[in-house]
Amino acid sequence: MPFSISISQLSEVLITTPRGFAGSENSYLINGVSTDTRSIQYGDLFVALRGSNFDGHEFVQTAVDKGAVAVVTEKYLGTQLGKGIPQLVVKDTLEAYQAIAKWWRNQLTIPVIAVTGSFGKTTTKELIGAVLATQGKVRKTQANYNNEIGVPKTLLTVSLEDDFAVIEMAMRGRGEISLLSKIAQPSISVITNVGTAHIGRLGSEEAIAEAKCELLVEMPKDSVAILNADNHLLMATAERLWQGKTVTYGLEKGDLQGKLIDSQTMMVEGVKLPLPLLGRHNAQNYLAALAVAKVLGIDLTQFSQGLAVQLPEGRAKRYDLPNDLVILDETYNAGLESMVAALDLLAQTPGKRHIAVLGTMKELGDRSAQLHYQVGEKVKQLNLDRLLILVDEPETAEIAHGAVGIPSECFTNHQAIVDRLKELVQSGDRILFKASHSVALDKVVNQFREVI
Ligand code: ATP
Ligand code: MG
Repeated sequence: MPFSISISQLSEVLITTPRGFAGSENSYLINGVSTDTRSIQYGDLFVALRGSNFDGHEFVQTAVDKGAVAVVTEKYLGTQLGKGIPQLVVKDTLEAYQAIAKWWRNQLTIPVIAVTGSFGKTTTKELIGAVLATQGKVRKTQANYNNEIGVPKTLLTVSLEDDFAVIEMAMRGRGEISLLSKIAQPSISVITNVGTAHIGRLGSEEAIAEAKCELLVEMPKDSVAILNADNHLLMATAERLWQGKTVTYGLEKGDLQGKLIDSQTMMVEGVKLPLPLLGRHNAQNYLAALAVAKVLGIDLTQFSQGLAVQLPEGRAKRYDLPNDLVILDETYNAGLESMVAALDLLAQTPGKRHIAVLGTMKELGDRSAQLHYQVGEKVKQLNLDRLLILVDEPETAEIAHGAVGIPSECFTNHQAIVDRLKELVQSGDRILFKASHSVALDKVVNQFREVI
């Protein structure tokens, strides 16, 4: 059964009495929750959220016309709303939405697995989803619904017939994961790593580690933490803040340790497992998913024939083009640690020349110039053949300074890079594209694929 709540239960959850309603509270059932009139269904509760560009209160009448059977608002809209449907008036509709999601989560008896970390949340969520789909029905975060609205939205899509829920949780500042953990009450929490993503907002890696570990602090005491043992700061912070059951994983150490045999295979607890995704970092993410399997009593030999995983665009995506050209599309996002992971992947891809096409890593605050310089140092350390940089902020050029000695060129627009690549590429080249999402380096990948 999908979501269902009676008006009397809803009144209790929101601590308010319905107004403008003459029906019987117990028999009046709501079977969905919507915040968007474009996708509302008959029988839904409409929650009028306020965003920076919209106010759901302006759409309440539309919601009712399209089938909403009750509404949650911050003001009473009077009898003109029509149809005598219940209006639940609250102080804050977002808090109300979160409270409803939390209530629904408490009706569920299935494992709820939360995933956070600086890098690899979506990838790990997809890997866990694929692992658990071999055992039953999995409901997981769609698109980027991983924040204070997205997590409740995801929870509200879980049905009583589902066997597992996998919830991605993102943050930009302190206190956000804490809130999400209180709502989702995870039974298993995975923290993939702690790095410098969003450091501009939090100030230090220690502060980021603490903010990620809010997930553990707020989860039920009998829940299990799954942590990346290779990440020292994460382990030290988690040990300080969480004393409950813990399972660690890693390629260097961990309760569940993986040993890479080659770029396609890993040994875990004596079982030889094909790697579902490219790159060492994705082997780590896979170990996180296998740790979830272990905690849930699933035998790892089940995965010895491989596991099919489809990641959303721009992550570890390989295109094999004519004339022995290979593109690695990592344009979804970038931070220092993910740049390093992707550059390693490029260097480990057999080919004649290795070319990196890189752009800005955003939201790095005061550390931005230094972290871009470190990316350049990594390029130099790997001795790549060429570096092309899309410079849209002065500190991006620091990549070239860090990579001194490697032939580097800076560009100020996408088309110029496409044109240069066209004259430059030769058979056997391996080309990595990576930058923060807003740089839109995916445009270069698409145009280049068209012209080559
Ligand atoms: P977002 O914060 O944007 O939601 P995310 O944490 O969900 O990101 P993914 O979308 O899974 O992360 O991956 C983004 C990029 O991070 C990948 O393209 C890859 O370059 C890098 N990445 C993934 N996993 C790891 C990891 N374990 N260590 C370092 N980098 C990683
Ligand atoms: Mg994500």
